[in-house]
Amino acid sequence: MTKRQRLRKMLLIISLLCFPVTLYYFSPALIINAGLAGIINGSFLVFVMMFLFSIPFGRLFCACLCPAGGLQECAFAVNERSPKQGWRLRMKYVIWAVWLTAVICCYLAGGGIMTVDFFFATEHGISVSSIQSYLIYYGIVFLILIPALLCGKRAFCHYFCWMAPFMTLGIKLRRFLHLPGLHIRAKRPEQCVSCGKCEKVCPMSIAILEEVRNGQIGSSECIQCGVCIDNCPCGVLSYEIRGEQGGNHGIGKKTGLCDSGAAKPRRTDGLRD
Ligand code: SF4
Ligand code: SF4
Ligand code: SF4
Repeated sequence: MTKRQRLRKMLLIISLLCFPVTLYYFSPALIINAGLAGIINGSFLVFVMMFLFSIPFGRLFCACLCPAGGLQECAFAVNERSPKQGWRLRMKYVIWAVWLTAVICCYLAGGGIMTVDFFFATEHGISVSSIQSYLIYYGIVFLILIPALLCGKRAFCHYFCWMAPFMTLGIKLRRFLHLPGLHIRAKRPEQCVSCGKCEKVCPMSIAILEEVRNGQIGSSECIQCGVCIDNCPCGVLSYEIRGEQGGNHGIGKKTGLCDSGAAKPRRTDGLRD
């Protein structure tokens, strides 16, 4: 494992250990209570920060800082399958749209914003401070963990997360405004030997080979974790900060061998060749 992935995993573990403290700052329910009281609470500000952070950095928060991401990566030890995708990926946007409408209605019903209280409904800033909040904590932990255990890698992120759409929106805004941002770029696509290793290790089960043809990972599901970069034997992928680009870059035009000498192996994992 590379130093970068060690650091990423360490940050995820620290974030997971802090989850009993930070739980309410990611809460989709507390923001509704706060809205009815006309208060901007911690989760309101965290969601705004996620949106703003995603404009230059995409979904790096999901890769390195999200406790729910860390929890689901622990579940890789039990279920490392790729969850089914297609229409299921849209479920989170439906959930988000309904929830966001409810949040806006609650702020309107509460008479608008009157004050800011980042620590709203916490005890000295700590979320799990009573038996009731302890039960809520475990409810949320199981809500996140069960899809990952039953359906596969980071299934909760794919299907249900109410925070991911804020970041997708930030990425779309960056693209619309042609702002520079963090990308995973196929810097040497002609070196790709289609070994499929990147797809196998990707925690978000992205069809990376297809994306390599376009010169960059453009999927809104990509969390910019860099696992594909660190596992590619041919150095095809890299991080880059810049604007958008596209085009067919011709995978494996050369010889089936990359400069590092990695030959095209037989696929045994059921992924596309
Ligand atoms: S998609 Fe949601 S749950 Fe998954 S890592 Fe990102 S913020 Fe956390
Ligand atoms: S495509 Fe690469 S950077 Fe994006 S989620 Fe997958 S492994 Fe991480
Ligand atoms: S050579 Fe690199 S980019 Fe191409 S399939 Fe293998 S791991 Fe992925």
